[in-house]
Amino acid sequence: MVSRVIPVDPFDLVIFGGTGDLARRKILPGLFRRFVAGQMPDDAQIIGAARGDMDDSEYRAMTEDAIREFGGRKVSDDAVARFLERVHFTTVDAMGDEGWAKLAEKLPPGRVRAFYFSVAPSLFGALAERLRHFGLADAASRIVVEKPFGHDLHSARALNRVLEEYFAEDEIYRIDHYLGKETVQNLMAVRFGNMLFEPLWNAQYVDHIQITVAETVGVGGRGSYYDKSGAMRDMVQNHIMQLLCLIAMEPPARFEPDAVRDEKLKVIRALDPVPAHHLVRGQYSGNGTHPSYCDDVEDPRSRTESFVALRAHVSNWRWAGTPFYIRTGKRLRARTSEIAVVFKDAPHSIFGADAGRHRNVLVIRLQPNEGMTLDVTIKEPGPGGMRLMDAPLDLTFADAMSPDADEVPDAYERLIMDVIRGNQTLFMRGDEVEAAWAWTDPLIDEWEARGDVPQPYDIGAAGPEDALMLMHRDGRKWREIRG
Ligand code: NAP
Repeated sequence: MVSRVIPVDPFDLVIFGGTGDLARRKILPGLFRRFVAGQMPDDAQIIGAARGDMDDSEYRAMTEDAIREFGGRKVSDDAVARFLERVHFTTVDAMGDEGWAKLAEKLPPGRVRAFYFSVAPSLFGALAERLRHFGLADAASRIVVEKPFGHDLHSARALNRVLEEYFAEDEIYRIDHYLGKETVQNLMAVRFGNMLFEPLWNAQYVDHIQITVAETVGVGGRGSYYDKSGAMRDMVQNHIMQLLCLIAMEPPARFEPDAVRDEKLKVIRALDPVPAHHLVRGQYSGNGTHPSYCDDVEDPRSRTESFVALRAHVSNWRWAGTPFYIRTGKRLRARTSEIAVVFKDAPHSIFGADAGRHRNVLVIRLQPNEGMTLDVTIKEPGPGGMRLMDAPLDLTFADAMSPDADEVPDAYERLIMDVIRGNQTLFMRGDEVEAAWAWTDPLIDEWEARGDVPQPYDIGAAGPEDALMLMHRDGRKWREIRG
């Protein structure tokens, strides 16, 4: 099945930080793929902006390199040439007053205007102010801001206030690229588009939920940033929180931005504080091949966690008593992100103890190979009586939706097109971000006050021993981390 592409209105997209890593790896290649898919109108404009001195042809050469490196398989010379006709560059300093008038001249009136803040958050306020001051933002304007959205509740609030000074909430698009993933949206389709799951989606039938986001890489070149952040701020407060919300939320009345975001906010507000014994922090040790976390960040005494596991509870009618186990970390056994909804045992086995008992598990896999599997219990084939086994019903989206895996849009390209369409459903609202920080801040404050040292774990393991114990104590176990 070939995906249906609905073209968007003519637009001008200005990428502040247009020469940076994010622009080169994600934004520009993503736009190119949407162009190839036929979604971009002929007169759309993409304008890179940064302090560096470049002309259009130099920026086009940089964009072409980025597309060839990160644009996927369908990079024909003709498509690249046609795409580059839409690409321009302007020199502008977020903190200065030069270049803004020239940028304004490039923006025709009466079209959608999107300003992507792909720069350090410390520049967000200055950019927002100048967009207004120099008259670049009009009624059809919107801004896109990247993570990290704050470092804690205090800084997130400050960032929200400064943006709100110049832009209304419905003009602010806070990106969490996890929400742009095909599987994450399919999670909503599966939950709310089928009769099958929703009646079972509660504490009565669900034993527990596991959310795992495992990486094999270390902090690499991001050491100085990561060491000030850690797994809790870098992954749990934003990406994992969003996944948890989509799993746990009540059905919104409509698939509309505020209806969905209101329900997500209720989940965050229903989260109990996590006691210290339900939380494990870890840090990878070095081996002969790879350095330890402390070596990676060049601070032998760093107490920042590269791994966190916790047991969360959503205290509401639907989920009372159902644990949500969360773990995320670097330098783990495999690169995988998944949500597993583990259903309870059937109340009675008619087959007797020898047949074995199996549980239904719905696994929503974000990477690798986005898709879902549902473990169902069947009879072991062959003679020898009734013995039961698990068989997965497998729905790998790339196979199911299109013969060409390249056609499954990347999260960034989908979200950028949503910005142009003016659809905020998959973007975080300011109050959601603040509520998420309000939940994680006390956990971080508490371990900082205790001077907690993270537990070491081996590279290639599944995290520290205590993370395994977190589930063992409850008579459960983590799913294997498999790539
Ligand atoms: P980067 O590689 O350091 O690039 C920064 C960009 O901002 C460059 O184009 C730089 O060009 C421009 N810039 C810096 N100061 C400026 C100023 N005063 N006025 C105008 N432009 C300025 O950073 P990045 O990795 O692309 O990250 C950009 C943002 O996205 C950050 O907030 C980051 O946290 C976030 N983010 C990045 C990733 C990622 O994968 N890279 C993922 C998630 C979120 P000049 O120096 O020439 O001005």
